[in-house]
Amino acid sequence: MQQILEAIQAGASGDELSNIALPDTYRAAYVRRQDVAMFEGLESADKDPRKSLHIGDVARPEIAPDEAVVAVMASSINFNTVWTSIFEPLPTFGFLDRLGKESAWGKRHALDYHVVGSDAAGVVLRVGSAVRNWKPGDRVTVHCNYVDDQDPSAHNDSMHASNQRIWGFETNFGGLADLTIVKANQLMPKPSHLTWEESAVNALCNSTSYRMLVSDNGARMKQGDTVLIWGATGGIGGYATQYVLNGGGIPVGVVSSPAKAALLNELGVEAVIDRRAENYRFWSDEHTQDEGEWRRFGKKVRSLVGDDADIVFEHVGRQTMGASVFACRRGGTLVSCAATSGYMVEFDNRHFWMKLKKLIGSHFANYSEAWQANRLVDMGRIQPLLSAVYPLEGVGEASLKIHRNEHEGKIGILCLAPTEGLGIDNPEKRALIGEDKITLFRRHGG
Ligand code: NAP
Repeated sequence: MQQILEAIQAGASGDELSNIALPDTYRAAYVRRQDVAMFEGLESADKDPRKSLHIGDVARPEIAPDEAVVAVMASSINFNTVWTSIFEPLPTFGFLDRLGKESAWGKRHALDYHVVGSDAAGVVLRVGSAVRNWKPGDRVTVHCNYVDDQDPSAHNDSMHASNQRIWGFETNFGGLADLTIVKANQLMPKPSHLTWEESAVNALCNSTSYRMLVSDNGARMKQGDTVLIWGATGGIGGYATQYVLNGGGIPVGVVSSPAKAALLNELGVEAVIDRRAENYRFWSDEHTQDEGEWRRFGKKVRSLVGDDADIVFEHVGRQTMGASVFACRRGGTLVSCAATSGYMVEFDNRHFWMKLKKLIGSHFANYSEAWQANRLVDMGRIQPLLSAVYPLEGVGEASLKIHRNEHEGKIGILCLAPTEGLGIDNPEKRALIGEDKITLFRRHGG
């Protein structure tokens, strides 16, 4: 790997990279099948990713004709790695076993270890015989939509494909490693003005927020729409906030500390709710929601922007769904992609049907949406949310921070990249976009 890293740093050509032998094993972050019961009986909050995520050498698999081997310079932690590491809502080995039964190539994934990670920025080292658009030496980012292009159901919106998967969560050989194996149709050009770690944090969260708000498949936000964004400085929330500002919408950002509120202000958001300071208690006990608290929240939104929310950007789930449905305006749209606080959600259906609201389920993004979202990063219109950087050995620690909601934006992970700050190919473009804009979250994260 050292030889590969040195070649990349020296700007080696694709041919030169092709001539360097790939190692039989590579360093990766993984969970083990033998550990899936290790947290049994513990509360979710007490499950510690540092205990289940291991760093060590794993065997490099052969690539299929439609795949590529990428040298991963940097990756990032997504919430799905937290889920995998605490084996909730279920261990991911079931996904790998199912994939293993689908085809001879799928069989490679059904192992007793699961290499995790659903983001990467790096350099293509090898491509399979059927790959046409990419070659060794290409500097890329990787999106996580993993689809079988011989499945007819994958050819309208590939997120509707019957066997659609998330790479590094529902497949093996993910991005938190020195090498990764991906389908060629997961590759996108690396934004030329960003460092490796800045390039690595965007694809999963940015594409998800793009589909939820901008794409025809999502809420189709338009100028003047008021958009209520939960977790507005978090991974998907931070990109959602930028889309609303860029698209002429009016964001109402919900966060949980004065520091996060200040960060939102700096990003250009005027209407900010500190949910902790306001002390909302949407659930009075485990089984009962408090409509008075929904009303107090709705009133707060109206007091800030003069109206109810046209769109609610939902991903918190059980804790907030009742309030979200209430705070959405008559005829408005809620778009949901997750349920961090619990997936059995409850809301008062009368507020939903009597006021003709719409609820859209959304999940990651198809290749076209991911490409559009990546293009906006490349043009400097969407900024990376990198707030902290850890080495690969720190994957457990970084996952714990996200599990405990002690972070802002995105945490980047250095894989092959020896230090932060490398990989900028176009410093002039970076200067034009502005260092201050690009590094806002990083400066905030310290
Ligand atoms: P994140 O960086 O941890 O951000 C989540 C934010 O939610 C936090 O910043 C927090 O903001 C807020 N939050 C957490 N608990 C809350 C509660 N009880 N009430 C109100 N707000 C709360 O995570 P992320 O990367 O944005 O992901 C968020 C969720 O989306 C995760 O469940 C993830 O798995 C899911 N996701 C799904 C997809 C998909 O394709 N379906 C893609 C990406 C992410 P404050 O504390 O500041 O309020």
